[in-house]
Formats: sequence, C-alpha cells, structure tokens
Amino acid sequence: MPNAKRKLVIAIDGPAGAGKSTIAARLAQKLGYINLESGAMYRALALKAIQQNVSQDSERELLALAQSSEIRLQPTGEGNRVFLDGADVSARIRERDITDAASRVSVHPAVRAWMVARQREMGLRGGIIMEGRDIGTKVFPDADLKIFLDAAPEVRQERRIQQHGAAADQEQARRLAADLAERDRRDRTRAASPLQSAPDAVHIDSSAMGVDEVVRRVEELALARMAAD
Ligand code: C5P
Repeated sequence: MPNAKRKLVIAIDGPAGAGKSTIAARLAQKLGYINLESGAMYRALALKAIQQNVSQDSERELLALAQSSEIRLQPTGEGNRVFLDGADVSARIRERDITDAASRVSVHPAVRAWMVARQREMGLRGGIIMEGRDIGTKVFPDADLKIFLDAAPEVRQERRIQQHGAAADQEQARRLAADLAERDRRDRTRAASPLQSAPDAVHIDSSAMGVDEVVRRVEELALARMAAD
C-alpha cells in the first residue's frame, strides 16, 4: 500500500480557545507530521509593529514591515517556537497586548496575502497540520482533510482562564473572557477572509470532549483519508 504513507496536508480552523494548537501538536506527534500555528506569524508581525512604532491601521507600512522580516516557526511537541529576525519571541507573543494587536494587523488584505504565500510554501511537501482561521478556506483550499474545531463560547473562555491560571482572580477572568469575545467578533466580521468553515470541513464541537477524544477522532479521519488514496 504505497499510498498509505502519503503525507497529507491537514487544515484545522476555528475560534480561539477551541483547542486547535493542543490538538494539532498532539496529532502531529502521532502521525510524525509537523504542526504549524499560523496565528503565531500574525502575532510576530504584531510584535514587530509595536517594537517599531508602526501603526496597526497602516496596511502599507505593515506589509513593508512583513516583507523586511524573517518569521520562522519551529514545531515542537508542545506547540511552535517562534523566531522573529532570529530572536526567540515565543513567550512574548502570547501576552495580552500582542494577542489584541495580532487580530488588528490580520484584518488587512495585503498582510494576509503575504502571510498566505509564506504559509503555502511551508506546506509544499505535505506532512503538515496547519491551524488558524483561514487554512481550509484560503491557505490550503485543496487540503486533504479540513477540520473546523469549535466549542461553546463559555467553554472556550473557561479554557483560556485556566490556561492563564487566573481562576482565582475574578477581575482577570472577566478581562480574559471579554478579550476573547472581542477577538471572536473581529475575526468573524472582518471583510478579508473572516473566520468561517470551509464547506467541505468536518465540524467537531469540542465543548464536551476531552483532548484525547478529539485527537482520536481527527486521527481516525486522517487515517481514513490516507487509506482512501
Ligand atoms: O491563533 P492565534 O490566537 O494565535 O491567532 C492570533 C490572531 O491572528 C487571531 O485572533 C486572528 O485575528 C489572526 N489569525 C488570522 N488567520 C490565521 C491565524 C490567525 O487572521 N490563519
């Protein structure tokens, strides 16, 4: 069965807090694939814009900034390490100001086109799981398997709060929930590539599912896809 080993391109899209990164990293380990977090690239550009005092509203300047940047993702078992012009910015880009800025710089079509071109290059050889908001719709419309991973808003908010270890701090929990809701709104309503499911994506609602269960389900779909070749 020579084709059973064909390296697939797997796209996982969905809103923040649905579990995309965790699922992608775990599945990549199981399949021997690499996992790429496309959102980390928008985050790295947002960081550079802040560092260089470039307006998050200036599409032209942001594009020039992207063109003069080296943004590199290094897959690991726990997610991506992210390098901006050679510097490891993995922790910094997860902070609140960057999370907000990333969703602002990502509304610009020229910035998105630049990102999409880079992301396609990363997928040329297959054997990748890329997660984001527009992977199945724009980056890899011909992906072998598309997953739209969702969860109820209150579940996603609670996961985010737990991730930050903020359960005891009501004020921080309220703020994290509000940030997530605002980012959801921006990602879903922007004109350029809003977050939406590809028509041929498999929907998984992870609200009442554990990580293992979701990984198993996506792995089954991937193995079925390989076997169908
Ligand atoms: O996935 P992550 O939360 O790291 O993404 C940060 C932001 O980058 C998202 O809120 C979204 O605005 C943007 N993004 C995007 N398209 C992608 C991935 C992320 O617009 N493929």
